[in-house]
Amino acid sequence: MMSGQSKNISFDALVVGGGIAGGEAALNLATTGFKVLLVEKELSIGGKMIMLSKVFPTLDCAACITTPKVSEISRHPNITIYTSSEVGNINKIAENNFEATIIRKPRYVVIEDCTACQLCEQACPVSVPDQYQYNLVGRKAAFIPFSIASPKAAAIDIDNCILCGACEKVCPTNCIDFTQETEEIQISVKTVILATGFKLFDPLLMPRYGFGLFKNVITSMQMERELAPTRPFNTVLRPGDGKVPDKIAYVLCTGSRDASIGNPICSQICCMYSIKQSQLLMGALPMADVTIYYLNIRSFGKGFEEFYQQAKGMGVNFVKGKIGKIRETENGNGNLILRYEDINEGIVKEAEHDMVILSVGVLPNQDASGFFPKEELKLDPYKFIYQADSLISPARTSIDGVFVAGTASGPMDIPDSILSAGSASAEALSYLIQE
Ligand SMILES: Cc1cc2nc3c(=O)[nH]c(=O)nc-3n(C[C@H](O)[C@H](O)[C@H](O)COP(=O)(O)OP(=O)(O)OC[C@H]3O[C@@H](n4cnc5c(N)ncnc54)[C@H](O)[C@@H]3O)c2cc1C
Ligand code: SF4
Ligand code: SF4
Repeated sequence: MMSGQSKNISFDALVVGGGIAGGEAALNLATTGFKVLLVEKELSIGGKMIMLSKVFPTLDCAACITTPKVSEISRHPNITIYTSSEVGNINKIAENNFEATIIRKPRYVVIEDCTACQLCEQACPVSVPDQYQYNLVGRKAAFIPFSIASPKAAAIDIDNCILCGACEKVCPTNCIDFTQETEEIQISVKTVILATGFKLFDPLLMPRYGFGLFKNVITSMQMERELAPTRPFNTVLRPGDGKVPDKIAYVLCTGSRDASIGNPICSQICCMYSIKQSQLLMGALPMADVTIYYLNIRSFGKGFEEFYQQAKGMGVNFVKGKIGKIRETENGNGNLILRYEDINEGIVKEAEHDMVILSVGVLPNQDASGFFPKEELKLDPYKFIYQADSLISPARTSIDGVFVAGTASGPMDIPDSILSAGSASAEALSYLIQE
């Protein structure tokens, strides 16, 4: 339902996507005195980074880095944040003059009045899979997205709500409002930064790995959640039966470097995040065996090779092997048989593990290609945002005044996303002051 309400507000910059790249770019512009609108489609800013456990190669706690940054972004007087919001369209009228339509979806909770007391969660009778825990556990239809969400406020998942009113009855501040409607807001800005991030490869597209069929085959993002301080369980366990695993396998390049599934490029982060997780698992489960099946280990960044050698030193097994198929054992114990080609020996082998983690790759988020009805926002051959001058000015896109930050232009890790956000905000600044 659209309210028909239409406001017209001006900002200096529109930043689309509130992950680490968009947040950093917004902060850079805001601290220089420019007014920024940060539009995020999820209920919280922070992107994928806020969901991570620790970060390679330093093993710093991801939440401990992200939370102060997110707090700085959300409190900055020059940054306005719209969560649960998307871009309808962006039209370039002239240099330094863009008009955009922003669609703000109702949260059915007045953010400013919500104390995050969770009484609505407790009262709500509806349980559904929790997308912020990557479906490892459930959540209610009235829910706070996750404990370090920003804004930390409840939301009503209207698609699953049965409108029983239980949440409204218990809410001590009366901030649940089922009359909220979708709002369409017209804004004017002088420059645009696209920081819409990446998508994770969906392993259901590779049925031979058994994801969705065998409960103890999970994704790397699910393992991130199991290892994070804000984790869904109090330990690492197999979703199939709650058993603590002791023979864990990683399958690298799941959905990367594989032309047969339409993604021939390297995701750049999967080797390193898998090596990171293997070290965290060795710490959490000292008696467990961890094996990483890989094609090549790409430890190309600063400190990465040392981090790889450190994992070997800790006892992580590295097997140069291409996984053909994963099946469950027939005795019903939920273990998995990996059939693979041992690349060094050139023979096909089988190995049994009790949990398998698919190191899923980075895919382009193509949302931004639909933002500009009158201009052409070019994509590169892999459908990431095209960098018009990737060597000299990597943040420039095919539209003057529109810049790209972070993984919206290709796979990269957090430090590179932050560097890229720095480049995008510096380019946007020089575009802003050339008026
Ligand atoms: C399992 C795993 C482990 C990782 N571990 C590490 C690590 O240890 N160290 C490291 O350096 N990197 C790690 N990474 C990589 C890291 O997550 C990325 O480098 C980083 O998240 C990129 O940030 P970003 O802002 O570019 O994108 P994202 O985090 O994807 O953020 C993009 C944001 O834009 C929003 N958005 C998307 N489309 C729209 C739209 N149309 N309108 C409005 N908003 C939109 C999204 O909701 C999201 O909030 C890991 C990644 C994975 C998958
Ligand atoms: S919506 Fe109300 S009951 Fe739910 S967390 Fe917020 S203040 Fe508490
Ligand atoms: S009205 Fe909806 S969100 Fe509120 S308690 Fe009932 S089902 Fe849950």
